[in-house]
Amino acid sequence: MIKAKKSLGQNFLIDQNIINKIIDLVDIKNKNILEIGPGTGSLTLEILKKKPKKIILVEKDDKLFDLLKDKLNKDVEFINKDVLKIDENNLNKQILTVFGNLPYNISTEILSKWILNLSPKKVWFNCLVLMFQKEVANRIISKFNTKDYGRLAILANWRLNIKKIMDIKPNSFQPRPKVESTVLFFEPKKNFMKFKNAKNLEKITRIFFMHRRKIIKKPFNQLFNNNENIASELGIDLNLRPQNLDFNTYYELTKKYEFLRS
Ligand code: SAM
Repeated sequence: MIKAKKSLGQNFLIDQNIINKIIDLVDIKNKNILEIGPGTGSLTLEILKKKPKKIILVEKDDKLFDLLKDKLNKDVEFINKDVLKIDENNLNKQILTVFGNLPYNISTEILSKWILNLSPKKVWFNCLVLMFQKEVANRIISKFNTKDYGRLAILANWRLNIKKIMDIKPNSFQPRPKVESTVLFFEPKKNFMKFKNAKNLEKITRIFFMHRRKIIKKPFNQLFNNNENIASELGIDLNLRPQNLDFNTYYELTKKYEFLRS
């Protein structure tokens, strides 16, 4: 019996019905697959049944990694590393289809890193099927003027089309997590605003959302040196709160910020 490590966000899927639903979301046959955190292999085994061309597994836990290696013993590429430390852009020559019941403690970090490091020209995945804590998923799919809306949604929607697939109850996992989970499906956007450096979008949203309840006049002036004409140009009312600006306004602000600094 494997003792799950809380520090590595280990909640293993045990509900075969849910496992099948996740696997059936995308075409796997002859595709190049990447799975993050395969754990005991519940998703991995089902993926292999669908005959992918190749599968790459990234698992940080040494013990699980060894167990899985013995169990699978197939044409699988094993990477015993922290997913945050791999260079995902150069993981595989061909485009990857990604699965991950993500470790909850670092799920937003993984998604943010992938988006910030995405090349404007060549995207390394065709889709992502990822599981998050429901509360985190709600933030990712949130829209402006709602309480969940914030930096994560603005960043994710910049490069990705996002679809909610399903909520999953705690009793589908062993050990049972305290909260519900949600599976999201992501595809790269073909059209998106090009920035010199995606970190500027991160910076703008960090400063705007520093105080959610306060009006945006102060963060705006901090970033744009009190040049309130820019706000008028972009049609932004500085008496609004950060959650009242839609995605596109944040992308426009980033573009303007970069332009003024060039
Ligand atoms: N895929 C399995 C399943 O659905 O039953 C396990 C999912 S469990 C929620 C998360 C997995 O990610 C665990 O196997 C854990 O060891 C692994 N993990 C945690 N942190 C990691 C990291 N930084 N890099 C790679 N894998 C990690």
